[in-house]
Amino acid sequence: MTLAALRTAFLLAVPILAGCESMPALDADSTTVGDAALAQLSSGAATSSLASLPVDDGRFTTGAPRKTWVYSCQSFPSGSGSQSLPWVSGQTWNSKEKVEVRGTVGWTRSLTIVRRGTQRAISGNGLPGHQTGTFPISPSDPAYAYDQNPNAIALQSVSYSIPANPAVAAAPSCLNMGPIGIMLTGAQLFNAFDAQGRDAAVHELLDSCWGHPQQQGAYHYHTFSACMGDSVTGHSKLLGYALDGFGIYGPRGQDGTVLWSNDLDECHGHAHVIAWNGKRVTMYHYHFTYDFPYSLGCYRGSP
Ligand SMILES: [Zn+2]
Ligand SMILES: [Zn+2]
Repeated sequence: MTLAALRTAFLLAVPILAGCESMPALDADSTTVGDAALAQLSSGAATSSLASLPVDDGRFTTGAPRKTWVYSCQSFPSGSGSQSLPWVSGQTWNSKEKVEVRGTVGWTRSLTIVRRGTQRAISGNGLPGHQTGTFPISPSDPAYAYDQNPNAIALQSVSYSIPANPAVAAAPSCLNMGPIGIMLTGAQLFNAFDAQGRDAAVHELLDSCWGHPQQQGAYHYHTFSACMGDSVTGHSKLLGYALDGFGIYGPRGQDGTVLWSNDLDECHGHAHVIAWNGKRVTMYHYHFTYDFPYSLGCYRGSP
């Protein structure tokens, strides 16, 4: 067993119960917010690409999955509304210039991941083990001009039982709205769209960890976040689990090269040797990318 596999096995074998102050090494580097987080986000990716990403409002299919699109369980009305956003220029947006919700609010994460036979039981309070911005967005925050998100971050009751050894399903499944995965930060992952089917990364005002709360107060991401504590070299780390049981990794592939959506299949993953449940196995897994749809395009397994 390699050291990395040992570490993974250890982390998955013991409950992760930590607050901001007593975080395990897992994401000890993920409490940084602000410029440092952005620097992490940018490292390893072509800076010019991050400054010019396509705006992918309404890039969904409902009949069958399609590479670089979202296979959505629901349809959205067309037309995105033309709100003027300074970080959008025509059909591209600059992720480095997007306004971030201000604030440095600390939370006490509770996340327990236990493997029991064929299942992986995940439970927690949905709160991130990193700082967040101040929500509801304050009228004095420059972000308020673009998004008056009135929701406060609130404790959740997160409980999932997912396959510990997921298998590729005969056919992919569409993505629901709401949670599609749970991240090791303790917070949940949603798909690439906001409620109107627009590119959420472009239109929703997020804090420096690229998260925000929805109506029930569930703090969630739509994209990769530097606060997830990815490694900086080699294949990205396991950062969370999709609801079909497959792992979700950061944006770097096998040789450490940054992946883009076009490098992955229609569900936004690929298969090669990874450490899984303490073993080295060839297995399907998802990757975040900096471009749309950022995380899953569909479920490869059975959610
Ligand atoms: Zn959202
Ligand atoms: Zn990979």
